[in-house]
Amino acid sequence: MGKTSPKIVIIGAGLSGLACARVLVKSGIPFTLIEASNGVGGRIRTDVVDGFRLDRGFQVFLPAYPEARRVLDYEALNLRPIYRGAQVFVKDRFHRVADPLGHPLDALVALRDETVVAMRDKWFTLLLRKEAFGLKQPPRDLPEMEAEDYLRAFGFSEKMIDRFFRPFFGGIFLEKDLRTSARMLLFLFSMFDRGGSALPAQGMQAIPDQLAEALPPGALHLNTPVAHVRRGEVALESGELLQADHIVLAVSEESAFRLLPPGAINMPKPARSTTCLYFAADEADMPVKQPILHLDGDGRGPVNSAVVLSRIAPQYAPPGRHLVSASIVGMPSSHELEKVVREQMTRWYGPCVQRWAHLRTVQVRHAQPEGRQLRLEAGPLDPIMEEGLYRCGDWCEDVSINGALLSGRRAGETLLRAMGEAI
Ligand SMILES: Cc1cc2nc3c(=O)[nH]c(=O)nc-3n(C[C@H](O)[C@H](O)[C@H](O)COP(=O)(O)OP(=O)(O)OC[C@H]3O[C@@H](n4cnc5c(N)ncnc54)[C@H](O)[C@@H]3O)c2cc1C
Repeated sequence: MGKTSPKIVIIGAGLSGLACARVLVKSGIPFTLIEASNGVGGRIRTDVVDGFRLDRGFQVFLPAYPEARRVLDYEALNLRPIYRGAQVFVKDRFHRVADPLGHPLDALVALRDETVVAMRDKWFTLLLRKEAFGLKQPPRDLPEMEAEDYLRAFGFSEKMIDRFFRPFFGGIFLEKDLRTSARMLLFLFSMFDRGGSALPAQGMQAIPDQLAEALPPGALHLNTPVAHVRRGEVALESGELLQADHIVLAVSEESAFRLLPPGAINMPKPARSTTCLYFAADEADMPVKQPILHLDGDGRGPVNSAVVLSRIAPQYAPPGRHLVSASIVGMPSSHELEKVVREQMTRWYGPCVQRWAHLRTVQVRHAQPEGRQLRLEAGPLDPIMEEGLYRCGDWCEDVSINGALLSGRRAGETLLRAMGEAI
């Protein structure tokens, strides 16, 4: 670190920290961005292992996210669309659920199969579309209630809730009780409806990497963990003390709790976690031909969803090979996990699964904060904690890529305003 004290310090180079930095860059304000780990991205990182791109936990990007549209260059991300619908495994075989707007022929063929979606559910899906139409954020006028209660009250059958919504949104919320706020369900439904889902061709990390390209030389300090923070002062784990007029905490809720003085924020509820097993397969051992999500409609588990990532973006695997991700909600401790997952995948895809090679099991303990998923309350948390001390991150806005980006921008703009800068 240089000898002169930085005036502005942002702690955390995840999406929210990078989005905050972007606001300062645009105004030509110098700052220091401190990151504990060895790269940018926070919870969005991709490791390259033997030519396979392994995201740290299965996640997808929703191109309709309003804040993402504002700050990201989609063309450069080379977004690869995922099929609008799913294959749902119920009673020993897959059943197709297809979005009639995205795949009208498939939807027509699937019309008579009511194993997952009954006729009345199709009608309620149309009504839900209408309800979610045009949303740009989780609707604050919707009373806070659990997603499952909302779906039931809306009119959906238990069958559709259990066989489709539970594995589909359970995989996104990382909890299968669907206790997450109905506002979040409606917002995400709207995003899926408007723009589907996609992956950047080079892996999810392409998103933070793109934001980091705009950082001024020397602004980013990796491998620099902060030990604690108080107004005007950032203490590094190395023992170095940084004085700053403005400090932005752009870390997860757990880290913020740990870094701030006792009592500054409430102790967070235990975070939601997830496990992802990656397998490599040859083309001859790959029965899945489409970029489509496969869901556990029976709820037998342990795998909640599986997808052949290289069918979405071939760049996820070396030429002629495939990358399969099998995702589990939570962190099962079984030492036989790989064996159990392989058995389930064999029921789904047949004996070829026995020839798949297990590449890695990725466990993310602090994947998503619990509190902010349950209740979104009146709106985002105030970015100012006290004079000169700001906060941002998904736990301040809503738990999504969009929420993290938006929260970072809000913190950056609040800081500029406090400095008397025009926005
Ligand atoms: C497995 C998984 C699946 C997900 N699926 C989706 C999805 O499909 N769609 C979607 O929209 N969202 C999804 N999300 C949520 C989304 O990824 C997050 O909401 C978002 O990335 C959070 O960004 P952030 O900046 O708020 O926090 P983080 O990404 O956690 O960034 C915080 C940064 O602060 C750094 N830091 C922490 N402590 C310190 C310290 N003491 N000193 C210095 N630096 C520190 C961390 O290293 C990190 O880089 C998923 C998340 C996970 C983990």
